[in-house]
Amino acid sequence: MKILIYSTYGFDKPFFEEAIHGKLELVYTEKQLNEETVNLSKGFDAVSLFTSDQANETVLEKLYSFGVMYIALRSVGHDHIDLKKARSLGIKVANVPAYSPYSVAEHAVALLLALNRKLILGQKIMQIGDYRLDNLVGFDLNGKTIGIIGTGKIGSAFAKIMHGFGCTLLASDPIENKELIQETNIQYKTLEEVCKNSDVVSVHCPLNNATKYMFNRSTFSLMKKGVFFINTARGSLVNTEDLIEMIENKTIAAAGLDVYEKEKHIFFINHSHHKIEDHLYTILRSHPNVLITGHQAFLTNEALQAIAKTTIANLNSWAYNAISENEIN
Ligand code: NAD
Repeated sequence: MKILIYSTYGFDKPFFEEAIHGKLELVYTEKQLNEETVNLSKGFDAVSLFTSDQANETVLEKLYSFGVMYIALRSVGHDHIDLKKARSLGIKVANVPAYSPYSVAEHAVALLLALNRKLILGQKIMQIGDYRLDNLVGFDLNGKTIGIIGTGKIGSAFAKIMHGFGCTLLASDPIENKELIQETNIQYKTLEEVCKNSDVVSVHCPLNNATKYMFNRSTFSLMKKGVFFINTARGSLVNTEDLIEMIENKTIAAAGLDVYEKEKHIFFINHSHHKIEDHLYTILRSHPNVLITGHQAFLTNEALQAIAKTTIANLNSWAYNAISENEIN
């Protein structure tokens, strides 16, 4: 089976080279899959996609016409592929349902700590010889209330870390995690109650039609003045214009974001020689109390190893005419 792996970079290619076995021939490209680059997949049996790729209706129809009948996603999330269309064309899609939830959970904690304890500012002023502490005051996380939206694999890993910090935990999730309740005393509430009562809100639920823009002016307005907002899930869970408004009116004291709703044209690409043409993003990142990382929460050796291993296993199942256990359509 011949596979074109879109959006592969220096950081993940070695993990594929290490994991490869079976009947697979891998070809790598740094290019993202979209309507302009879909032609590259002519002559391949399968493609492998990352979150930066876009498999919409037009792209899927092209893939189908080239005979590409398998898509191996290298992510948990599958909001970047039109699953319904893929199903109707008979294109099989598999994801990586779990890979080190600790990678993302720990990154969410890193964003929270860096913002709260002003690590970036502290480093900047120290480098110019300014050791004054006046602008570096944070707060104890111990005893604070943390609101967790989505207590699946990543949300529960985050909850357990925050439990270790001595925080009170609130959660919003249609499915209650009994084991997590036992282990951390987390209390399940409505989204509104979590927003109203938390000192920190951290988002860990999937993006779909029901969750798009779940954080908007009305949900943000419920939050305590001075709340810290952390999003390592998906950018479009948040209405960025409303987020900026809430940062500017000081409802939100700090925001830690690993994802942004229009990140596909920004993240994973070197923009050091030109201006990023995205007004909203320019405003967002101009705020000193906003810490943005470029969708790197998953970026640990353990996660990359697991992603490569599962992707290779998914592709080999198809290469040997079997069903992949991670098929999602
Ligand atoms: P998961 O499926 O284990 O958990 C998701 C949880 O969200 C489930 O418990 C589900 O019931 C809950 N949920 C669904 N709808 C909800 C809603 N409306 N309100 C509250 N909770 C809701 O998934 P996971 O492995 O924990 O991953 C969570 C998300 O994190 C993924 O969907 C993905 O978008 C994102 N993610 C980001 C990165 C990154 O690098 N930034 C990496 C991996 C995953």
